[in-house]
Amino acid sequence: MKRVRVRFAPSPTGPLHIGGVRTALYNYLFAKQNGGDFILRIEDTDQTRFVPGAEEYIIEAFQWLGIKFDEGVHIGGNYGPYKQSERKPMYKQYAMQLIENGWAYFAFDTPEALDAKRKEAEAQKKTFQYDAHTRDGLCNSLALSAEEVTRRIQSGDPYVVRFKYPADLDIHVHDLIRGEVVINSNLLDDKVLYKSDGMPTYHLANIVDDHLMEVSHVIRGEEWLPSAPLHVMLYQAFGWEAPQFAHLPLLLKPDGNGKLSKRDGDRLGFPVFPLQWKDPKSGEISSGYRESGYLPEAVINMLALLGWNPGTDQEMMDLDTLVSLFSIEKISKSGAKFDLEKAKWFNHQYIQKTEDDKLYPLFEKELQKHGVQPDKDYALRVMRMIKERVHFIPEFWEQSSYFFVAPTEYDPQVIKKRWEKDTNEHLKKMMDIILSVQPYNKETAHDLVMDYVQSHGLNMGKIMNSFRLALVGTAKGPDLFEIITTIGVEETKARVDRAVKEIIVN
Ligand code: GLU
Repeated sequence: MKRVRVRFAPSPTGPLHIGGVRTALYNYLFAKQNGGDFILRIEDTDQTRFVPGAEEYIIEAFQWLGIKFDEGVHIGGNYGPYKQSERKPMYKQYAMQLIENGWAYFAFDTPEALDAKRKEAEAQKKTFQYDAHTRDGLCNSLALSAEEVTRRIQSGDPYVVRFKYPADLDIHVHDLIRGEVVINSNLLDDKVLYKSDGMPTYHLANIVDDHLMEVSHVIRGEEWLPSAPLHVMLYQAFGWEAPQFAHLPLLLKPDGNGKLSKRDGDRLGFPVFPLQWKDPKSGEISSGYRESGYLPEAVINMLALLGWNPGTDQEMMDLDTLVSLFSIEKISKSGAKFDLEKAKWFNHQYIQKTEDDKLYPLFEKELQKHGVQPDKDYALRVMRMIKERVHFIPEFWEQSSYFFVAPTEYDPQVIKKRWEKDTNEHLKKMMDIILSVQPYNKETAHDLVMDYVQSHGLNMGKIMNSFRLALVGTAKGPDLFEIITTIGVEETKARVDRAVKEIIVN
């Protein structure tokens, strides 16, 4: 069997959509499962859509995600260059080859002339198509005399090269996900392959590169399915063996209504880009999974299951497991709805699963962002205690700040609900009891405080939440005696003293 070689071929027109990340991931899984190669090729033939920083962004995103390429624009390889603008000189000969063997032609029509044709057709409620039925009446090397064509080319007239579809031909695309897709060539426009600026279009460059890079499987988004008949024809025209095609289902909005678009993310409360992106022109910022506090492992696991499943109920799968279980046959034909709750669930699971050593730097960074330079042993202890409450990395601070900084404000809702007139006195007494346990011991302190609460007939929920309020500032956090033990009895006393001084209810 031919060696498996697949590529991810983004155009650097902006940040990478997570749909693109999923495409890359499926390519990666397929390549690794088959002991093959995974290539990163930058398709930048459309200079008008080039966005500075996009290529660097793409590379950084995959580094963060831990998806490694075997060859590519950033690491080289035996089939380079891996950026189409750097391959520019090699495309023209292929366009000319197609003209020579009758599969393409020069077209000199000006944009204005084509526009006029379009308008003319519209007036008759038709759509203009450059094809077998119209090309004879247009300005191209099939309609003009050979001398005229030579004259125009020699005098430097701008031209494009168009593909020449045979009329009324059923083109068969064998898709590994969709089965056989058939399109009649009468429905297709003679696509431009080579532009007047000396650059190939996506179609020509893509096919030439896939051939030269010995790509065995083209796994890409469904939006490219309409281009597949042209690609199949191009392989035929060149006399090259075509790769196998697999067009992936769309990623849909959470309600299933339409494709997940760039704008949806920040509107619906989740990122659609792996990393935060600042638009170089408008300065507009779009959120990223990394900055929103997702772990890359969670993003990968969640994305893998958007459009594919292993055929069992298994949900938690790391990259290696995904590699072993992946199969193109199990990719669904229908679009996959983005599910924010599931994304959140995965992230929570991975935060619990990640080893402390790996998680700690993320925790430390959150603390540092808030001006805390923690002692590692102490902070690790806190992290272990609170991580089960955390779904996203920035919540580390919300859930742990009071272990590092005493509260200066007290949640008024909790005061209203829990704090009574005699709470101040009871808290002082309870604090004395805790101080009396020498040396301090969590279990004894707990039992004695409980005895006090019961013997005074206090409402357990109210009094313990008031105590918590003094230490935490709100009604959240792990076991109260765990908190006391962690921050220490002295700090506990300082916090209780402060709270009973500041909180006065009538
Ligand atoms: N450059 C195309 C893109 O931006 C690649 C499509 C393909 O994989 O053929 O998605």
